[in-house]
Amino acid sequence: MARPDLHERIQAQQKLRGAQGRTRARRTVSRRDGVRLEVDGRWLTGFCSNDYLGLAQQFEVVAALQDAAARDGAGSTASHLICGHHANHDALEREMAEWLGYPRALLFDSGFSANLAVQQALLGDDNDVCVQDRLNHASLLDASRLAGCRLRRYPHLDTEGAMRQLKHAPDGAAMLVTDGVFSMDGDIAPLRSLSLVARMQQALFYVDDAHGVGVVGEDGRGCVADAGLGVNEVPLQLATLGKSLGGHGAVVLGDEALIQHLSETARPYIYTTALPPALAAASLAAIKLARRDHWRREKLTELIALFREGARRNGLELMPSETPIQPLLCGDESHTVAMANRLVEAGFLVSAIRPPTVPEGKSRLRVTLSALHTPAEVNALLEAIARARDVASFQQSLLASGS
Ligand SMILES: *Cc1c(COP(=O)(O)O)cnc(C)c1O
Repeated sequence: MARPDLHERIQAQQKLRGAQGRTRARRTVSRRDGVRLEVDGRWLTGFCSNDYLGLAQQFEVVAALQDAAARDGAGSTASHLICGHHANHDALEREMAEWLGYPRALLFDSGFSANLAVQQALLGDDNDVCVQDRLNHASLLDASRLAGCRLRRYPHLDTEGAMRQLKHAPDGAAMLVTDGVFSMDGDIAPLRSLSLVARMQQALFYVDDAHGVGVVGEDGRGCVADAGLGVNEVPLQLATLGKSLGGHGAVVLGDEALIQHLSETARPYIYTTALPPALAAASLAAIKLARRDHWRREKLTELIALFREGARRNGLELMPSETPIQPLLCGDESHTVAMANRLVEAGFLVSAIRPPTVPEGKSRLRVTLSALHTPAEVNALLEAIARARDVASFQQSLLASGS
């Protein structure tokens, strides 16, 4: 038997990615100052971070991190169930549960591992099924594979599709899972109707609101609270600490029984080092600011309206999003990448999102707004995008005319 040589295989795959223009390269940020980033010796205005509220470098957040690190060090030294569980972790869990109106919260070192944990701990059987929106985050899809349950997907936002999938699923335990705010589209799931579907089909409803908590709703309590729902309709939800809260980690919220079960059985919780207590202190400070500083959300709302109005005026193709995630559909992959490169030349960093992260032909510039942007920066970005598009269409017309 001749086994495939792994080096040859990855070389062939890399060559294919190169031919498709899908090589992935990292940009190194050497300094950061709010929305400004120094990349390759040049300062750019970033429209690509998830620091929607501008808390990542906020003075009180960084001071909390420094104070706690001075007291407790850089790391937690062990997993939660050994001796790594610190009072700062406890305080953060309590604050998060109180803010979002849930009985209990459990802290994870990332949203990715929290998502793996929830399904692995609850859906173990061959007959168990996880029904998911087609555009859910990659970690939710991978979680079903890890859990070993059946995965069924429904068309984006399609409540009836979700109903059908649950109706025709095997009779094991079922979970209905959706992003709150969709990470690449910026739109919001129809949580009220999905919660009814889950109830009718006796499925546990899990909402991953990584991009909603902090941003959506008057008090930033996220999509679930904004839809008037709580632990009765959405027994489990995920909030992350690395996006609008500017830190790192994630929290799963639920009732006492579910959270206790996760803490005792979820492998991605048990077999990993606890988040550094200093990071928990930073997130605790960030939550207090997110709750107190309504101006951050008000400013975002104004910038979102400004961006959408300006994009329309410039004939750019918006997607139906009311959140700080404002993708501009470009369609063709190489065109999208060329646009992003031109924007860098103009002094703006915007990410080009392309397959496999989004479907073929749906490549986009994913613009994200932050409360730290100024209206002038948003207007300047829009002008740069319109110019980049005009240059591209001029070049295409030259190509088409054969000159
Ligand atoms: C970012 C994200 C995650 C992962 O969270 P991390 O803390 O970055 O690992 C999970 N779900 C969604 C919807 C996300 O956008």
